[in-house]
Amino acid sequence: MTKIYWTDIQAARLKTLGFDAAVLAQGFHTPAQRNRAFQAIEKNQIKALRKELSERLTCRRPTRAFQLAQDLDGLLRDNAFAKVSTPTITTKTALAKMGIDDTHPLNEQIFWINHTQCLRPMLAPGLYSLMKDFSRLDFRPVRFYEIGYCFRKESDGACHSNEFTMLNLVEMGTPESERLERLKELACMVAHTAGIADIRFEEETSAVYGTTLDLVAGPFGLELGSGAMGPHPLDAAWAITDTWVGMGFGMERLLMASVNDTTMGQWAKSLYYLDGIPLRI
Ligand code: ATP
Ligand code: MG
Repeated sequence: MTKIYWTDIQAARLKTLGFDAAVLAQGFHTPAQRNRAFQAIEKNQIKALRKELSERLTCRRPTRAFQLAQDLDGLLRDNAFAKVSTPTITTKTALAKMGIDDTHPLNEQIFWINHTQCLRPMLAPGLYSLMKDFSRLDFRPVRFYEIGYCFRKESDGACHSNEFTMLNLVEMGTPESERLERLKELACMVAHTAGIADIRFEEETSAVYGTTLDLVAGPFGLELGSGAMGPHPLDAAWAITDTWVGMGFGMERLLMASVNDTTMGQWAKSLYYLDGIPLRI
């Protein structure tokens, strides 16, 4: 006897309620049997999720996202990185110094506020500006980092969000011969703190940096972060002559990889989820 499956609407609802592929693939003999099963499953799941959400709201623990940010603050503080905060609004001039002009592929992804200002697509312009100022100091290495919101117009939804949170760390004055190892060491420390074990490094071509050393995770090679090092061709525009290593990580991607998720929706800034728990219940 051929089986029938969930209707598209039922399947979408079950997905929203967090059911996995096994439940979604379930087959039935008759529509009545299927619809009864749907009602029962939906009712039970809503009850369980409301309980989970109530506990979540009253447990006085930070969400995973806030906890991760705290853990990374601790890691970086222990490793002598200073926390900085630069403006979310950046300028056309600063982007041009990153090589992003009107013809650059990333230009299409910029949220412009007016002719000269936009929401930053990355933390690098702000951090480059700080590097220039810190380079006047007489000690090395100079270590600092920012965790801040970035904005890009994206079309691929599974692992991209129009607004996301980047952790970008920078170390200036790393001896030239030690840069690659240091970059890998820092990336491993971040992944370890996020609870991600299945990682590897890949060299990637980047529209901004030419080549990057990417930290990727899991069987599908999810990019968690991209690292670069200097001296770099972009340094001249910022009058930087120091050696440096730097890496930008997506905080939502770190969360996603830490729970082996294949989509980022639950971990992005959202009106639909709180700490991974669906809210349309
Ligand atoms: P991808 O190739 O995955 O689009 P990217 O190479 O363009 O990423 P980078 O500029 O290297 O991204 O940014 C550093 C990190 O920020 C990425 O490794 C990723 O973890 C995260 N990131 C970038 N864009 C997004 C986005 N739209 N949503 C969520 N995280 C993002
Ligand atoms: Mg990248």
